[in-house]
Amino acid sequence: VGPLPRPVTTRRIVVANQKGGVGKTTTAVNLAVALAQGGLRVLVVDIDPQGNASTALGIPHGEGTASMYEVLLDDMRLEDAVVRSPEAEGLLVLPATIDLAGAELELVSKVAREQKLLKALREYLVDHDIDYVFFDCPPSLGLLTVNALVAATDILIPIQCEYYALEGVTQLMRTIQLVGGELNPDLRLWAVLLTMFDGRTKLSAQVADEVRGHFGEETLETVIPRSVRVSEAPSYGQSVITYDDHSVGACAYRTVAAELAARAAEEQE
Ligand code: ADP
Ligand code: MG
Repeated sequence: VGPLPRPVTTRRIVVANQKGGVGKTTTAVNLAVALAQGGLRVLVVDIDPQGNASTALGIPHGEGTASMYEVLLDDMRLEDAVVRSPEAEGLLVLPATIDLAGAELELVSKVAREQKLLKALREYLVDHDIDYVFFDCPPSLGLLTVNALVAATDILIPIQCEYYALEGVTQLMRTIQLVGGELNPDLRLWAVLLTMFDGRTKLSAQVADEVRGHFGEETLETVIPRSVRVSEAPSYGQSVITYDDHSVGACAYRTVAAELAARAAEEQE
């Protein structure tokens, strides 16, 4: 791929869906790598205590690692926890450790608990030139996800081409509206991505139609195919893009990255 256009302001994209296993982490990781390979500066913020995004980007996240937890609960500055990913030039990661599992409860008693991440990120962005931030959320709509929704400008919803694909989406939209109404009025749904599409099944095509009917324009043209290479990559601490550059999964994620970069450019005209 050639160089991708830079957005005028930092696009902060929350990859959200409270269902687990729909491709949130895979999407955040691979779009981040694809955009960074396109010459952009990208930061992945891992907000899932499982730390799957950190793993897939080759970042150690054992106990004692400076991470999201310290940023949220010990007022650590973002730049003291952000590290470079070996996956691509210009790709940065704020890792998550298992400590974050307790953060949801610990945050409850804090002042401005919903704005912790926004505050830390704003300070960081003042002197770091970043084009895209991706927030990889846990499969819930708790305080961690709310912190991401408050810190974000745009929402990307991955939807798995499976039974009950749209189940839970109403609840997610309600949470988004709630956060939007009170804490982040500019937040908006930017893109819907169909994941794990299986071209051999009628079901995948039906789900794709249903999602396009429900979301219309927001749905990205490109769909991510179900592919073994995509699921193998994380166990090597890699994105599918560096694990198997020519695989259908790598190509699909590169195409989505280009589609998003073009969408961002179009909106700025
Ligand atoms: P989430 O973050 O929403 O829980 P993941 O991105 O971790 O979802 O994906 C769930 C599982 O499905 C993981 O094992 C991942 O490797 C696998 N997976 C994701 N996308 C694909 C795909 N396009 N093809 C095959 N497996 C996939
Ligand atoms: Mg995940």
